[in-house]
Amino acid sequence: MEAFLPIFCYTCNKNLGCAVITFGDLSWQQLKSEALESSVVTMGKWTRLSLLSLGASYDRCVPIYHSVARGRTVPLLKTLVSSYCVNSCAYCAFRCGRRVPRERFEPEELADVAMMLWRRGIIEGVFLSSSVDGDPEGATMVELHAAELLRRRGYTGYLHLRLMPGCSREAVRRAAELGDRIGLNVENPNDSCLAEIRPDVDGRIDVWRRLRWCSEEAERGNLVRAGLDTQFVVGASDETDRQILEATYGLYRELGLRRVYFSGFRPISGTPLEDRPPCPSYREHRLYQASFLLRDYGFGPEDLEPALDDDGYLRDIDPKIALALSHPELYPVDLNEATFEELLLVPGIGPKKARAILTARERRPFESLSDVRRRAGVSIRRSSPFVKIGDGQQESLHKFERKVEMSQWT
Ligand code: SF4
Repeated sequence: MEAFLPIFCYTCNKNLGCAVITFGDLSWQQLKSEALESSVVTMGKWTRLSLLSLGASYDRCVPIYHSVARGRTVPLLKTLVSSYCVNSCAYCAFRCGRRVPRERFEPEELADVAMMLWRRGIIEGVFLSSSVDGDPEGATMVELHAAELLRRRGYTGYLHLRLMPGCSREAVRRAAELGDRIGLNVENPNDSCLAEIRPDVDGRIDVWRRLRWCSEEAERGNLVRAGLDTQFVVGASDETDRQILEATYGLYRELGLRRVYFSGFRPISGTPLEDRPPCPSYREHRLYQASFLLRDYGFGPEDLEPALDDDGYLRDIDPKIALALSHPELYPVDLNEATFEELLLVPGIGPKKARAILTARERRPFESLSDVRRRAGVSIRRSSPFVKIGDGQQESLHKFERKVEMSQWT
C-alpha cells in the first residue's frame, strides 16, 4: 500500500510537496487506526521522520529508503536521530545558524518506530546518522542508545551506523558490536579544502583516526559483517578526482573499507556555497566506475592516469575504456587464451564475467563470440572491439575510437 505525506528534501530542505510512502501490505487507514489504538505510531512521529530522513534527496519514498544490495531492493528506515547541529559545514542544510525546521528523536521513540516497521516487514534494515547535536560524543551516544534498544528488543535486521567525527574509541567499539555496517564521512581528501568547507573537523584526527579504530575493532572481534563505509562530498571545493581516488585507494587497501560513496555537491540557499555551481552529474558516475577499478580489479591510482585530464579530473568517458585506448598493444585479448587478469582489462568484463568465461572454456575452446554468450551465459557485445577468438575478426579499435569521440560508446 502507498500513502502520501509532505516531505522535505534533506539537502535543500525545500518542501517537495506530497510524496509516496510505502507501507508494505498495511493500508494507511489501518496504520492510522493502529496508531490511535496503540499510540505506537503517530502522525507527529511520521512528520518528524520525514523531516529527518536522509533518503529524501534520493528517493520519493520517505521515510523508507529503497537501497539496492546485490541486485535486490532493500527497504531501509534511513534517518537522522537529530538535525540540530553545532557545526558549520559550508555545504550543509543543517549547519549551525541556518534557519531551517529541525527535529530530534528520543532513542526510545526511534526504536519503537523501527521495531514496528520491521516486525511488519515494511523495512529490512535501519540506517542511523545524526547531526552533531551538542558534542560529537553525546550525539553518537544517543544514536548508539537507539541502536542498543533495537537490539535489546530483538531486532536482528541490518543496522547501519554513521558515527560522528571526534567520537571516542569506546563509542567506536560499541558501534562495531551493534552494527552490521559502520563508518564516518571523510567528505574531502584534501586538508586545506576540508578546512575551508568543514572548519570544525580535523580530518586526520577526527575522521581518519576514527576510521582506523573502526577497522581495528571490526577486525579484532570479527564484527561488522557488512564492512565499513564512508562518503565524499564531491565538488564543494577544489579537490581533484586524482586526490579523491588516491584517498579512496587508501581507504580500500589500508583500512579495508567495503564501500566508498560519492555525493555530488548541490548548492543550498542560505549557506556560504549557495552560489557555487553544482557538481556535474557525470562526475559522480565516473568516480564510482574508477573506484570499482581500484576496489575490485587490482588497479592502483597510477593506472587511472589515462582517464584523467591535465587538471586531474576524470574525463566523461568510462575510465576502463580510457585505459584500454591508451594501451592498444594489449588488445584484442583472445578469449580462449587470456588469463583472469587479462580478461579483467577488457572493458565490459568484470570479475563475474571473467570467471564465467574461464569456466565455460574449460570443456572446449569457444568458436565465436555468440558461442561465448551461449556457453558462458554472458553478453560481451560491449567488449567486442577489445576481444577476439583465435584469428577471428574484431571491430577495429580505430573505428571504435571514432565512436567514442562521437560519444556513442562511453
Ligand atoms: S556536522 Fe556538518 S554535515 Fe553534519 S549536520 Fe552538522 S553541519 Fe551538516
